[in-house]
Amino acid sequence: MKEFDYIILGGGCAGLSLAYELEIHKKLENKTLAIIEPRNEYKRDKTWSFWKIIPHNFDDCVIKSWKNFSINIPDKTKHLECNIYPYQSIDSGLFYEKINNKLKENKNIIFYKNIKEISLENSFVFNSVPELKIDENNIWQHFCGFEIETKKNFFDDEIINLMDFDCEQKNDVHFFYTLPYSKNKALVETTWLSNMKNDSLKDYNNEINHYIKNHLNLSDYKINFKEEGAIPLFYPVNFKEKNKINIGTAGGMTRLSTGYTFLNIQEHSKYIRKNIENISNSKTFNISEKYKFLDKIFLQVLKKNPKKMPNIFFNMFYGSSNTAIKFLSNKSNIFEDLSIILKMPKWIFIKALFGK
Ligand SMILES: Cc1cc2nc3c(=O)[nH]c(=O)nc-3n(C[C@H](O)[C@H](O)[C@H](O)COP(=O)(O)OP(=O)(O)OC[C@H]3O[C@@H](n4cnc5c(N)ncnc54)[C@H](O)[C@@H]3O)c2cc1C
Repeated sequence: MKEFDYIILGGGCAGLSLAYELEIHKKLENKTLAIIEPRNEYKRDKTWSFWKIIPHNFDDCVIKSWKNFSINIPDKTKHLECNIYPYQSIDSGLFYEKINNKLKENKNIIFYKNIKEISLENSFVFNSVPELKIDENNIWQHFCGFEIETKKNFFDDEIINLMDFDCEQKNDVHFFYTLPYSKNKALVETTWLSNMKNDSLKDYNNEINHYIKNHLNLSDYKINFKEEGAIPLFYPVNFKEKNKINIGTAGGMTRLSTGYTFLNIQEHSKYIRKNIENISNSKTFNISEKYKFLDKIFLQVLKKNPKKMPNIFFNMFYGSSNTAIKFLSNKSNIFEDLSIILKMPKWIFIKALFGK
């Protein structure tokens, strides 16, 4: 069976980001790489959005960048700027196409559908297939989005609505998210933070149609693209093993309070590329323990006090929006952390800290 220097399990966001990073920095000229990916074809399957707080390789896959965003709870709206760290959306179809075109140029890189086709024995493995322990108390960010198009101009495409909590909450945390790509095109998403025990929550199509009609006051539109997904707001149980590094969701690259993962994946890829010559002895790349600790408390508060969460998210953005963006993107300093922590309702966070 064929042997490779490196094997990437899963050619999704993390697997392809890493292969691309290694390839463009010429780390695969004298090395062989197998990518194991079961999907039959690459096509647009999701949209990755984030505040661009660090550079990444995919500016040419950006659908749009915005410098303004809003958040609202019933009766209150906050308009905020993000000039320094614009909010960006990446089209996964363009991302897959760009990477696959580049990887095709190198004969040392081969795609396989099944791991059984190759030998794992003398390879270093980068694994992006998460092992998720099913626990019905775990919180997920689950969502469904329609990319809609109107005949006439309808949207203000200069500003996104990051979180609209002016909607039915049931016993969980629920908001809508609207990204206007142009004056007549937008992604409208219904998002829940919950343990997914209650299946009736999943009437996404009705929720979105109702929101578009009654909140956006729009009746004439067509749906161009639909995305649905669930991001685990808990860590997978993938273990670190000799000659193996977990990447992407499997490697704990999701920020548990927000679900943001894309830029952490890009940072991890850069870290691996810089250390590739001595990767077996390199330190594991992690989201800092500070954020893991704070997110754990935050999720504890969310589980116990779902009804308070719209106000908590809203208040996080009091003061400088850059501070909140840096905090949510794991780039804040101790003073910025404190300024966010001090905006939180003290008593319920203290109780969560002590597991109550
Ligand atoms: C719909 C959706 C929207 C998201 N939006 C955002 C966003 O806006 N911003 C953000 O920061 N994060 C977002 N995320 C979270 C995160 O960025 C993505 O989940 C991202 O794709 C994670 O990358 P990954 O490589 O870990 O997983 P994936 O991209 O899912 O890649 C894993 C790959 O492994 C393959 N695979 C599965 N089983 C096997 C197997 N047994 N052997 C080999 N390969 C296998 C799969 O086919 C897949 O290609 C989103 C997630 C989803 C699901």
